[in-house]
Amino acid sequence: MLDQFNRNIYYLRIAVTDKCNLRCTYCMPEEGIKLKAHSDILSFEEIEEVVKAAVKLGFYKFRLTGGEPLVRRGIVDLARQLAAIPGVKTLAMTTNGLLLPEYAQGLKAAGLTRLNISLDSLRPERYREITRCGDLNLALAGIKAARDAGFTGTKLNSVLVDKFNDDEKESLASFAEKNGLKARFIKKMDLKSGEFYKVENGEGGDCSICNRVRLTADGKLRPCLFSNYEVDVRSMGAEAALKAVINNKPARGGKSNNREMIEIGG
Ligand code: SAM
Ligand code: SF4
Repeated sequence: MLDQFNRNIYYLRIAVTDKCNLRCTYCMPEEGIKLKAHSDILSFEEIEEVVKAAVKLGFYKFRLTGGEPLVRRGIVDLARQLAAIPGVKTLAMTTNGLLLPEYAQGLKAAGLTRLNISLDSLRPERYREITRCGDLNLALAGIKAARDAGFTGTKLNSVLVDKFNDDEKESLASFAEKNGLKARFIKKMDLKSGEFYKVENGEGGDCSICNRVRLTADGKLRPCLFSNYEVDVRSMGAEAALKAVINNKPARGGKSNNREMIEIGG
């Protein structure tokens, strides 16, 4: 469906949970976020309804994100349900990879098309510092599990923070090449100040060609990372909410201060 600025909006990013097994410094505050009640989180049936309504409006690309999508119980079943919807051409996932040894094969069999794996450092101590708790070896095992399960075209998402890990850009790029991954570099964004950049080797961050909207785990559709506008799919109904969010998609990002990145899905 076209928005007011003639951009074709066909890509829906779906945050399936607000929980995570890491606590990345740029994504969530140190004290964490107030988690939503179970009853606030969309059920699989409700997510399926949104995806079906989106397909009716011309969407064909979908991505499961979070929080960490792999901590949502039954995630493989959800992937299977969504991949089977006629009109869903791409069903991808963005993950920190830690749980891929457990889920990669199931996800592949369920019809998940592609993975983006987030990894910002190849140095164990730095990885732990960025994620506030993560074990680099588990992330590396996840990357291997994705390959072993037969995923191809996997992207390696690295957030670069000036003067912190930007010195690893080359080593991350060569790690990606050696492991059959496509390196993508994302400069750290700041929702509150409205600082964002084009993604290197990706299409994000360029407002003129933006093609996406976002669904939060608690059922709010958002037209832009850098906007506070959101509509509720439960009270409006999926199709009306999708039309509203597309019609209210701003020409370019501004600022956003009513949710943390972990709640919007990146
Ligand atoms: N937990 C999953 C992961 O980390 O891949 C999916 C959710 S995470 C919010 C999605 C993406 O957003 C990740 O690639 C993450 O690095 C990115 N991200 C989070 N906060 C960011 C920020 N402040 N600036 C740029 N990218 C960010
Ligand atoms: Fe969790 Fe992903 Fe945010 Fe890191 S970037 S805290 S892994 S949701």
